[in-house]
Amino acid sequence: LSDKLQNAFSKLRSKGKLTESDVKTVMREVKMALLEADVNYKVVKDFVKTVQERCVGEDVMKSLTPAQMVIKIVNDELTKLMGDVQSKITFSQQPPTIIMMVGLQGAGKTTTSGKLGGYLKKQGKLPLLVACDIYRPAAITQLKVVGEKLEIPVFEMGDKQSPVNIAKASIEFAKSNKHDVVIIDTAGRLHVDEILMQELKDIQSSVKPQEILLVVDSMTGQDAVNVSESFNEALGIDGVVLTKLDGDTRGGAALSIRAVTNKPIKFVGMGEKLDNLEPFYPDRMASRILGMGDMLSLIEKAQDAMDMEKAKELELKMRKNEMDFEDFLTQLEQIQNLGPLDKLLELVPGMGAMKSQMGNIDTNGKEVNRTKAIIQSMTIEERRNPQILNASRKKRIARGSGTNVQDVNRLIKQFNEMKKMMKMFQSGGMMGKMKKGGF
Ligand code: GDP
Ligand code: MG
Repeated sequence: LSDKLQNAFSKLRSKGKLTESDVKTVMREVKMALLEADVNYKVVKDFVKTVQERCVGEDVMKSLTPAQMVIKIVNDELTKLMGDVQSKITFSQQPPTIIMMVGLQGAGKTTTSGKLGGYLKKQGKLPLLVACDIYRPAAITQLKVVGEKLEIPVFEMGDKQSPVNIAKASIEFAKSNKHDVVIIDTAGRLHVDEILMQELKDIQSSVKPQEILLVVDSMTGQDAVNVSESFNEALGIDGVVLTKLDGDTRGGAALSIRAVTNKPIKFVGMGEKLDNLEPFYPDRMASRILGMGDMLSLIEKAQDAMDMEKAKELELKMRKNEMDFEDFLTQLEQIQNLGPLDKLLELVPGMGAMKSQMGNIDTNGKEVNRTKAIIQSMTIEERRNPQILNASRKKRIARGSGTNVQDVNRLIKQFNEMKKMMKMFQSGGMMGKMKKGGF
């Protein structure tokens, strides 16, 4: 999914301006990418509609570039789709807090019960694991092994008692042994069926769990979503644990579950090891799905750090092609305040292409410092009117900046190239179009 989306956006990013049809094209690709990633069809349809509407309605003037704006909107909406904020476990006022783990066979209930126990133990809780899967051979042993590794007690009564009786007895045991959290590992089936649901309902009504957590395998994609719907209808789940996310390259389940069931994903399993459990953060997942990693936070950083007024002023100058070395210096300084330069340059519209034009001034701090030194050695007059830079002025500047005339010439050449590029980007008059209220 990431690759596909990145592809769609890279087309956008390398464009200097956006038209309504650009947005439509990109959104068509986003739609295809989401569908291929096994995201629920209705979810995709609604998503694309929302993003498109927002793109057209948003006041793009305030952001640095329309392309970043679209990416940001997609990211925002992906985050919203997954519930916006992190959902935590609800603890009972009167301990013990009872957490019931449900799900199909092989989804990862037993493993996740242990992981969750370990997670809560680290937070100072005293969990108890309860073995209620009396059907699968070795299920009890499996939980005991997990408990031993984590040094968490496991309550079991073999496989001769009913799961309801085991669950009930475990609560009494927890109370008399000061356990404040009880995690009940239940049996699963290969498919959702009545007998399983009835058993789970019986446990539910006899111990009244604070939390019913549904464990689903993210690698099953759309099936995971259907399973979530069935369990939610039957039991009224409180949240979902999405396992095997380490092996899920598509992200379809993560994206659809919340929208379809209206229940939050609370944790994700990131591997087989017992500490591979993480709280689920919708914003991080959105970024992961977008495949941009820290790219998105860089966009935000850029938006925060850039002086908006200055940026606007600069944009006006760029539009009139009046940018001079002074503006260039300001821009370099602003960019330098932000961090990794090559990444940031990619965020500036068209800079991807410009980077190759600008050759060696872009990627490392040393070059930028040298460029700054050269500009700083120019007089104000020279910075504002680069055309007056003749041979003797260049020689003086080179001496002043500890460089040589070739360096100065190279910078001037790059600067002129850049202005030419700028002119190309700006000649379409995109800002005018934006202001009229549409791409
Ligand atoms: P249960 O039948 O629902 O109790 O599932 P288990 O807990 O027995 O897990 C089934 C298999 O999935 C085991 O081999 C686990 O190691 C594996 N598993 C569980 N969670 C994860 C995860 O987050 N990542 C990976 N890679 N494997 C997992
Ligand atoms: Mg199990």
